[in-house]
Amino acid sequence: MISFSPPRIDQKIIDEVVDTLRSGWITTGPKTKLFEKRIAEYCGGKAVLCLNSATAGLELMLKWFGVKEGDEVILPAYTYSATANVIIHCSARPVFVDVGGDFNIAVSEIERAITEKTKVIMPVDFGGLPCDYDSVNALVQKNEIKKIFSATSSEQKMLGRIFILSDAAHSMGAVVNGKKTGSLTDASVFSFHAVKNLTTAEGGAVALNLPPPFNNEALYKTLCVKSLHGQDKDALAKAQKGNWRYDVVDAGYKMNMTDILASIGLVELERYDSDTLKKKKLICEKYNDGLAIYPWALLPIQKVEAQDRKVETSYHLYPLRIKGINESQRDEIMRKIFDRNVSVNVHFIPVPMMSFYKGLSYNINDYPNTYKMYCNEISLPVFYDLDDKQIKTIIEAVVKSVSEVLNVSAR
Ligand SMILES: *Cc1c(COP(=O)(O)O)cnc(C)c1O
Repeated sequence: MISFSPPRIDQKIIDEVVDTLRSGWITTGPKTKLFEKRIAEYCGGKAVLCLNSATAGLELMLKWFGVKEGDEVILPAYTYSATANVIIHCSARPVFVDVGGDFNIAVSEIERAITEKTKVIMPVDFGGLPCDYDSVNALVQKNEIKKIFSATSSEQKMLGRIFILSDAAHSMGAVVNGKKTGSLTDASVFSFHAVKNLTTAEGGAVALNLPPPFNNEALYKTLCVKSLHGQDKDALAKAQKGNWRYDVVDAGYKMNMTDILASIGLVELERYDSDTLKKKKLICEKYNDGLAIYPWALLPIQKVEAQDRKVETSYHLYPLRIKGINESQRDEIMRKIFDRNVSVNVHFIPVPMMSFYKGLSYNINDYPNTYKMYCNEISLPVFYDLDDKQIKTIIEAVVKSVSEVLNVSAR
């Protein structure tokens, strides 16, 4: 069986983890701080905070901005439910909008959804392809949109407009006009979950990039406190000689990353561009080469090369689409692919199709392109240790399964 996305665990990772285990310091400490510094250097964020998940990072930033009951947060219907759940945790209302042909949030739909209650927009870089942040950033600066923004917290007053919080769970290392995600908008949140491009088993990071008068370094320190019980000293600081006394200045959360996890991340980041991204791109190109000849194959958009806009994905997913099939034909094709011992997946079942959100009266019919993109999507395996023979097996499994189902339905 070819798995969908096993992690790359080699001796280098094991050695680094063992080094941490033997160091006498296993929770948040020097390795986490080093990992934060390295991520900031890598992505160009002005400060980076590591946490135990991307979900924690998204929630922390919504709470920091003062999102509360009565507020609205705009996000794409096509995402993983974590993006929406954190809005519910703040007692605010998720306002889903439809996506475009690249699976990413449609900027024209955002504009239609903005009201005087809108506090935050959460674009999602689907599969690693960055959203059109130039347009989203410009949109919230428009006079008529700034005018209806109603600031109710000191952070909201200071920003004076809608906050752009990017769900960059997939897109570490993706590039827009030479700039990486993490430096493209106010704040971006990466995921280091086991299946993500860069993993620490579980983990996430917030890259801060707020405009003046915000001080991103000072905000980083505030968020360190907020993500660790509201305690004004972390465990490492408290462990210093005579430094035991501390205060709690906020009813904070418990979201910190451990040094054990950071040690995995440090190894992963060091070889991310030279190794991981290179290999993932190569795999996607092989899929393109093998599938492009089939008239039913809709290949994913992973690069944009317009005159003023050069975009490249981080190749997190290979979201293949099959022209002209419905949801049950897609499911049947997937069954046949699994029968050929290849694991595939669907990214994602749109959030408005989930029971909890249906219970809140959301309806997938309100997001027609999201449903259309979901119906015929099949994600193929993209992971570091995938070899040429396996890629060939996967392509064959897809081609045979699609042909069988298309013939059956044509009869
Ligand atoms: C994985 C994922 C998340 C959540 O990441 P965690 O680190 O598991 O919290 C959020 N959004 C999207 C789009 C994801 O794919």
